[in-house]
Amino acid sequence: MKAQANVLIVEDEIPISDLIKMNLEDEGFQCTCVYDGLAAADLLEEQNFDLVLLDIMLPQVDGYELLSYIKPLHIPVIFLTAKASLEDRVKGLNLGAEDYIVKPFEISELLARVNVVLRRFHKSEKILAFHDLIIDLDKRTVTQNNTTIDLTPKEFDLLVYFVRNKDMVLHRDSIYEAVWETEHDGNTRTLELHIQRLRKKVGIEKHLKTLYKSGYRLDSKE
Ligand code: CA
Repeated sequence: MKAQANVLIVEDEIPISDLIKMNLEDEGFQCTCVYDGLAAADLLEEQNFDLVLLDIMLPQVDGYELLSYIKPLHIPVIFLTAKASLEDRVKGLNLGAEDYIVKPFEISELLARVNVVLRRFHKSEKILAFHDLIIDLDKRTVTQNNTTIDLTPKEFDLLVYFVRNKDMVLHRDSIYEAVWETEHDGNTRTLELHIQRLRKKVGIEKHLKTLYKSGYRLDSKE
């Protein structure tokens, strides 16, 4: 299943930030840019991200301090650093960054590192939870109050996609393309039927909202 990763870029040098955003968006990532550490911390409270690209020298709160804030959220971090010294690189990794990249860098290197970190992180992620649902990604099972729920493979993929992208507006086309791994032909029937069945089977009617004309959103709050 293709992941539609949501990346937070924390970098105060706007040309660098814009360049990263443009290139990641070309690859199908969703990007949000913030330009100081406090704004980043605020946004991390409000939204879910799959990856943070984090500059070290930032106004307000620096990257090292912000990293200690991000760690409990279990979001992988790649440091963007102008500091090429061994000591700085080791400090970042010791603090728990997944990787670092030294500025100036080639975009191809950035993309490669982003993909490696996301793959590694998702591979190590074995269990997802959403309220009373426990999703085991290895066994591909879903349980609710210790009862296993019988889902078809596509219903399972759909549920995982919603939970990984909870609280985000998901357009029909992107859901279809991520779960069916093929381009959406505009026929919404297949997707609607699967969502209808998923809602019934796992009892997430209250959380899985249909948004007029745009798509769906799985709300973590009721
Ligand atoms: Ca900086």
